[in-house]
Amino acid sequence: MKKRVNYMLMLIAASAILLTTVLLTLIYYNLFREQVMKDLRTNALLLAQEFSLDNTEEMIADGLTEELRVTCIDSNGTVLYDSVQSPKDMDNHGGRPEVSEALAAGEGRDARISSTFAENTFYYALRMQDGSVLRVAREADSIYQMFIGVLPGVLTVLAVVLLGCLLVSRLLTGKLIRPLQRLAANLDAYEEEEAYEELTPFVRMIKEQHQDIIKGARIRQDFTANVTHELKTPLTSISGYAELLETGMASEKEVQRFAGGIHKSANRLLNLINDIIKLSELDSSEQEFVTEQVDMYELAQTCVEMLQPNAEKHQVTLEFEKGEQRKCCTVKGNKQMLEELLYNLCDNAIRYNNPGGNVWVQVATREEQIMLKVKDNGIGIPFEHQDRIFERFYRVDKSRSKQTGGTGLGLAIVKHIIARHHASLELDSEVGVGTEIRVWF
Ligand code: ADP
Repeated sequence: MKKRVNYMLMLIAASAILLTTVLLTLIYYNLFREQVMKDLRTNALLLAQEFSLDNTEEMIADGLTEELRVTCIDSNGTVLYDSVQSPKDMDNHGGRPEVSEALAAGEGRDARISSTFAENTFYYALRMQDGSVLRVAREADSIYQMFIGVLPGVLTVLAVVLLGCLLVSRLLTGKLIRPLQRLAANLDAYEEEEAYEELTPFVRMIKEQHQDIIKGARIRQDFTANVTHELKTPLTSISGYAELLETGMASEKEVQRFAGGIHKSANRLLNLINDIIKLSELDSSEQEFVTEQVDMYELAQTCVEMLQPNAEKHQVTLEFEKGEQRKCCTVKGNKQMLEELLYNLCDNAIRYNNPGGNVWVQVATREEQIMLKVKDNGIGIPFEHQDRIFERFYRVDKSRSKQTGGTGLGLAIVKHIIARHHASLELDSEVGVGTEIRVWF
């Protein structure tokens, strides 16, 4: 980039200088040409007053023909006198533009370039009273010669300007690039104020992205550590029970107890692995998200039916509140995910309840939105935990969660599903009173 800026700047400067030189030479040469012609005309007029074929010797003696070539041509074009060549060696001049013009109109002019292009010969012809034509000519630099003449000066200027361009471009590109290099070298230590105005939004964006990446990496690291820890507990317990069984010394009753322990731990492992798989599927953005029109009313009703045995086990009354105009409660979404969401919310409402408690599930239309409400009169969530229960593995009461088969991932999955469906969640909870969760689609 630096090289390109250098190159472009120098190219522009060189073109500008060359173009200006050509243009100025052209203008100047035109002026010069006019001046030469004017001088020739004055000379011709002066000469015409004294000129006669007899006094040519005197003219030469007076030095009049030193710079000028003087030719006299009669009305037929025959050369009568020439100050340089013998008239006998010269062909008919009637056809020369300046001569024919002078014969016709009284005066004529022309400029002809030499074979080497170095010089121009300027001619001015004047018809005299006796009908013959007096022609004066002089040589002067041609435009090419003039251009070559100014070239050393132009090249010097060019060299100076190019050097200047190089320095300026170095200075400017350096100023442009230095903050970027510093940013790349140490992103964290870089202050937004160090950058120039145009770079600030870019720096801000990069820093934010960088922080997001670090945060993401930390979350993943924490998650891995948590997963390892969570897997270790049931596996240790399975291994312990198996070891006891291996000795063959356990009584029949104990064998049953140990097998029950193994069964419970294995189930916990299965639940955990299932939830981890679901979360990782929800995490990966490439995963296909198939949507359809899902009847939330029907889905909630089915879920409630399915969870009845579970509710009975916990001595909780699980109720689906019917009665709404059910036709309008369809949501465009992924059926499997919405099922998962319903299941997790209802399951929590049952598990974190008291014997004899209630869970109410409702699907309704409110303010042109579809609302799913899961309400319980269970143990409630202390206010200070309410923000954090959607984090992975966050539990208010760890032992209760584990005892009831919780993985600590249910609400994290709920949060992801809600985000995928661009829905929103509201939570009202009070310890000892109960919890109400509303999801708006
Ligand atoms: P878990 O598998 O432990 O239930 P979740 O992610 O589903 O994990 O829930 C996180 C925590 O939020 C639970 O451990 C529990 O403490 C609390 N919680 C969730 N739902 C309720 C509820 N309806 N009533 C009381 N506490 C709840």
